[in-house]
Amino acid sequence: MRKTNILIIKTIVITVGLFFISGTSYLSCQTSKNVTPVVHKYQIPPDYLNEPASIPSFWISTYDDVTNFLLANVHKGKVEVIGTTAGGRPIRAVFYGKARQGSGTTTFSGSLGFGDVAAFRGPDNDKTVYMGMAAVHGGEFEGIVGMVNLISVLETGKDLRGIEWPGITDAVKKLDRLILIPIVNADGRVRIPLRMELYRDTLLTVAEYLNTGGKPDGTITGWPQIKEFIPMSMTGPGFPGGYPNDAGVNIQHDDFFGKRQPETQALFDLTVREKPDLILNMHTGALFMRTDRPVCEPALHDAFNTLFRYVHSELAVKGLQESGDPKIAGDPALATTGVFNIDGALDFNCGALSVVVESPSHSFSGNRVSQKAKVEMPDNLLNAQLTCHQQAMKFLGETGGRSKWLPGRKR
Ligand SMILES: [Zn+2]
Repeated sequence: MRKTNILIIKTIVITVGLFFISGTSYLSCQTSKNVTPVVHKYQIPPDYLNEPASIPSFWISTYDDVTNFLLANVHKGKVEVIGTTAGGRPIRAVFYGKARQGSGTTTFSGSLGFGDVAAFRGPDNDKTVYMGMAAVHGGEFEGIVGMVNLISVLETGKDLRGIEWPGITDAVKKLDRLILIPIVNADGRVRIPLRMELYRDTLLTVAEYLNTGGKPDGTITGWPQIKEFIPMSMTGPGFPGGYPNDAGVNIQHDDFFGKRQPETQALFDLTVREKPDLILNMHTGALFMRTDRPVCEPALHDAFNTLFRYVHSELAVKGLQESGDPKIAGDPALATTGVFNIDGALDFNCGALSVVVESPSHSFSGNRVSQKAKVEMPDNLLNAQLTCHQQAMKFLGETGGRSKWLPGRKR
């Protein structure tokens, strides 16, 4: 009998009941409202939902676990709800430091035409604001784990393994403001009922299925085919994967100039309010951690090149790049250029250098084929995440941010 004939399909039903959000708690941006329940009913091959026998305690990745972590552990920072997903889930960010004060006198575009972005960013133009966000794609857990552990370092000096990160602690001292969003696409993350995927060596199929979706028989939609239909159909029996929100939209490729999704609008509102200099947009999908050159203002390319050197040379020193030579790994000529997506949109929304970082996955290895370094071990993945944030923050602090990268007109 062919295996496909006896394939047992497990139907998962994830129900988020009608819940009431309080507007009087520490979640200061939130307003009281009833939210429509969202019910998912999909057919996923049962083996795809197997987890490892043991999951490291530092691997906090689910929406509920992250929420509980923030509630229990953020004391120096402040947790705010910055928006609500299409499926009615709060999007939480953690803020440290002092926001830019005052306001500018013109639009971002106007400031470019005028020749000085201070006219948009206001009297605190020379302050430095760092922003990190993860899980724009809900099936990409590494960035979430990295962000949670970064928050642990900011709160206690140590990650959740008890390891100190003095480089992060030092880098943060030079910054004025930090904004960290562990899960942007909460709908996509909740759709995948796993804390951690099973490690499947060189088999990519399951990780890809969970990420980009597929049919009940386990075949994948695949990348980039998943991007042909936005919004995509969210009615089963196939599994939509973690890419889209509950409205079927991959917000990395939202309709930025048209009808924006609530997650995108939340990011637009947040970034125009805070005017970050640098945004790291943490994804999963590389053999070795990779920073992509965004489609952005040409004037920001030099800053990107310097950021690339800071990040990739240090990753190489720690054995987390294909080359162990920091000069080779840190050469920005290696960077691939993305397409127009949310990072370019955020640049043109607020002037930030917004950069996709692709992490290796904990669930499969592309390196085993070539017998390269085994970077997909969870400890290595976390080290790469924290090293990336450390170096990006160090870059921002030492280069002084946009006001120094692109000094304004001489008056
Ligand atoms: Zn992604």
